[in-house]
Amino acid sequence: MGSAAGGEPLLRLRGVGKVYEAGEHAVVGLEGIDLDIHPGDFLAVMGPSGSGKSTLMNILGCLDVPTTGSYELKGTPVSSLSPEALAAIRNREVGFIFQVFHLLPRYTALRNVELPLLYAGVGKEERAQRALEALRAVGLEDRKGHLSNQLSGGQKQKVAIARALVNRPSLLLADEPTGNLDSRSGEELMAILARLNAEGSTIVLVTHDLAIARNARRIVYIVDGRLVTEDRYRELRG
Ligand code: ADP
Ligand code: MG
Repeated sequence: MGSAAGGEPLLRLRGVGKVYEAGEHAVVGLEGIDLDIHPGDFLAVMGPSGSGKSTLMNILGCLDVPTTGSYELKGTPVSSLSPEALAAIRNREVGFIFQVFHLLPRYTALRNVELPLLYAGVGKEERAQRALEALRAVGLEDRKGHLSNQLSGGQKQKVAIARALVNRPSLLLADEPTGNLDSRSGEELMAILARLNAEGSTIVLVTHDLAIARNARRIVYIVDGRLVTEDRYRELRG
């Protein structure tokens, strides 16, 4: 699979699989995933519901570990890490944007964006300054004092992006980030992600909307837990 850059990949997956033990049944979430993602890449992952997109994102973001194969983030074999080390690498390296915004409703936009810095032990003044910078990067500086439940859906998702950016992560993961937005807010959001990518952010975006996926530099397709070609994907989707 072609890539934007040469050199060492930021993320390297080889034969990655995930089996969920659900009661008496084992559910295959992913199988045999080989994937390299380089610094500065912008990858869209498309696939039908239940195909393993979120499972893949959880592994990329160190929220979960594969049951088979190997996953390296910046050359670190993630599968071998303790839960504590996994949490540390996740907090340092990964920013998450979800379909639901997960903002604290009674906190201001600024305070919501500051939270990851608080967890990382960054001092008060630097926290406020960096949170403001992140809000500026998504064009929401003038809403910094609004409580998050006083913001529109599109504005909430911008706050969530600012929060994901504030730790200056190596990797931004967005799982159906436009799923709860009207089409105009969705387009605005994609413009922000495209700009962040142009400025150097590495982004992996999950969507089942081709118009959204086209904002990425390349698209991979996943069906039944496996990466497939575009043709195969179209065939299966009918
Ligand atoms: P997608 O995000 O593409 O809709 P998921 O990655 O959420 O798909 O799910 C892939 C498959 O793994 C599905 O069959 C789903 O039911 C199963 N799955 C996901 N998470 C779990 C879990 N925690 N326990 C058991 N099965 C799961
Ligand atoms: Mg999902």
